[in-house]
Amino acid sequence: MGDNAPIADPEIKYTQIFINNEFVKSVSGKTFPTNNPCTGEPIVQIQEGDKADVDKAVSAAKAAFKLGSPWRRMDASQRGRLLNKLADTIERDGRQLASLETLDNGKPFGYAFNFDLVFAIKVLRYYAGWADKIVGQTIPSDGDFFTYTRHEPIGVCGQIIPWNFPLLMMSWKIAPALACGNTLVLKPAEQTPLTALFVCALVKEVGFPPGVVNVVPGYGPTAGAAISNHMDVDKIAFTGSTEVGRLILEAAGKSNLKEVSLELGGKSPNIIFADADLADAVEWSHNALFANSGQACSAGSRTYVEESIYEEFVKRSVERAKTRKIGNPLDADTESGPQIDEEQFNKILELIKSGEEEGAKMHCGGKRFGDKGYFIESTVFSDVTDDMRIAREEIFGPVMQIIKFKDIDEVIPRANDTSYGLAAAVFTKDINKAITIANSVQAGSVFVNCYNSLSANTPFGGFKESGIGRELGSYGIEHYSEVKTVTIKIPQKNS
Ligand code: ADP
Repeated sequence: MGDNAPIADPEIKYTQIFINNEFVKSVSGKTFPTNNPCTGEPIVQIQEGDKADVDKAVSAAKAAFKLGSPWRRMDASQRGRLLNKLADTIERDGRQLASLETLDNGKPFGYAFNFDLVFAIKVLRYYAGWADKIVGQTIPSDGDFFTYTRHEPIGVCGQIIPWNFPLLMMSWKIAPALACGNTLVLKPAEQTPLTALFVCALVKEVGFPPGVVNVVPGYGPTAGAAISNHMDVDKIAFTGSTEVGRLILEAAGKSNLKEVSLELGGKSPNIIFADADLADAVEWSHNALFANSGQACSAGSRTYVEESIYEEFVKRSVERAKTRKIGNPLDADTESGPQIDEEQFNKILELIKSGEEEGAKMHCGGKRFGDKGYFIESTVFSDVTDDMRIAREEIFGPVMQIIKFKDIDEVIPRANDTSYGLAAAVFTKDINKAITIANSVQAGSVFVNCYNSLSANTPFGGFKESGIGRELGSYGIEHYSEVKTVTIKIPQKNS
């Protein structure tokens, strides 16, 4: 067993709510199971957070944010140091963390280790570097005044994350919040609490003061709603469905007008022109959709292909999908594990059925894979039209829609005919086509001859109903700081 081989049965040390740097039981005494998606069986019982636990966590976060507290008094460079140390311990325990992620989420260990874990560490280190570089301006205001701005932390941040990239989404949320000096209460998804709780032990180990990071596992309508409605939560950051995003925004409006950033669903167009390198475009487009078992908000889920290469593209995409290895996520050659739970599994199969009923042509897949857990075969549809449900609704599963188009003028409005606007891609050797598409599609990220090539320093987020605000990069900092303008009367201004 090498240093980066999966642990088949990782020890689960942390199952409790994390408040004030201590693991505690739920106020209600209730627990909930987190399940193994490969089998549908419970892995372990987790303490179930609800409003009373959120109240405790928010109080702790508020106290840790008080003027004069160790966290408020800490040097910005030291905040960066703590984030770097957290990254180091996550790297040290990477094999355990990636194994827990695979157990809880079902994603292949290689993917959990080489993508989720590596990216999470990079995000922590990227924002560690920002901590002492968040600066304001000095401004020559009119009159005998002198003005400067301070970029202050907002306060207590509520952070609600999904189950598709549990550790990675945690890093996207906590790293910029902590770099800016906020305190936080994070709720992991009920399906995947294990890695977030493991990270809590590391937060304590590296020396974040008590109350700075609090994690309350539990369900959305209870623990999640308690965070979004809380009068003492100053900002909320959410990643998940557009449906729940609306509830978060509504709760913010009805409570204390907390600041809101949202990263929501998508139905992203991936446009392949006839002049593209075909083999390359087929492989990128395959992974744009099937990576993480199709469970990515930015999945390239509307594959638009120019008519002269349409048949060939479909043929090659079907061949590729048929070779995709589905199975035990601990096996090194597995490319796709199961879907996360029964609800998603049923939803995906229902959408596949709608595709068949609405007249799309199914070339492969379409059914459950195996006889236990939530595995679904890699499914490819051609002859998909824009009005079909599979072309309009977010499937969040291994179901590829290949759609024909005539030319660039026709495909742009079709690509934009969606309420979503998270990502888009174009494959072509023609720079003019690439730039025209890049400038015309309504999407927060556009990829040219690649897909989902994300980086800690490149912003990510959605146009339209795919979200509000941007995460990652310097843009991510803006959502975790308040600008304060300080104007001082001076005896005499000089230029
Ligand atoms: P999915 O449909 O992919 O599970 P959700 O948007 O339902 O995505 O879930 C993402 C996160 O939002 C999870 O942590 C979930 O518990 C939480 N959540 C679900 N419903 C609510 C709600 N009403 N208020 C706050 N958070 C919620």
